[in-house]
Amino acid sequence: MNEQETNLPNDSEELRKDEIFTQRPNAKGELFDDFEHRTDTVLTSEGGISRKILNREREYGCGHDARRTRGGRCGEEGCFRDSCADCYTRCSACQVGLCLFHVRYLQNETGQKVPVCSHCRDTIQRRRFWGNIGALLLSPFVSFEDHSK
Ligand SMILES: [Zn+2]
Ligand SMILES: [Zn+2]
Ligand SMILES: [Zn+2]
Repeated sequence: MNEQETNLPNDSEELRKDEIFTQRPNAKGELFDDFEHRTDTVLTSEGGISRKILNREREYGCGHDARRTRGGRCGEEGCFRDSCADCYTRCSACQVGLCLFHVRYLQNETGQKVPVCSHCRDTIQRRRFWGNIGALLLSPFVSFEDHSK
C-alpha cells in the first residue's frame, strides 16, 4: 500500500507556526538583548510561515508592569532588581538606590519616616544605641558598681 501523507495541511492556517519566546532576565536581572518586542518571520521549507515572537518579560522586580516609568536598580549587595518609579527609593543617608525588598525605614528626630539602606540603618541604630548609653551614663540617677575588685 502506497502510504501517502495523510495529514497534509489543507489550509494556509496550518502552515503557520508561531513560536513565542519570553525573554527573562538572568539571575543578575540583566536582559540578554535590548529588544522590547520582536517578531521574526521565516518561510519554512514546506512553504509555510514560521514566526518567532520574542517578548521581553514586561515586569519590574517590584511586580509592576514594565511600561511604567523606570525608577532604578537596587544597590543592595546581591540584589539587581529594577523597580518602577513608584517603588524605587534612595537611601536618605548614602543615596544608594533601593527596591521594595531592601528599603528600611527609620524615624528621624521629628518623627518622620525616612528611607535608608540596611547598612545605614545599622550604622545609625548603633550610633543611637551608643548615644543612649552615653546619655544613661551621664544620668545622675544611674549608680555604678565597681566589679573590678
Ligand atoms: Zn513598582
Ligand atoms: Zn545608605
Ligand atoms: Zn533590592
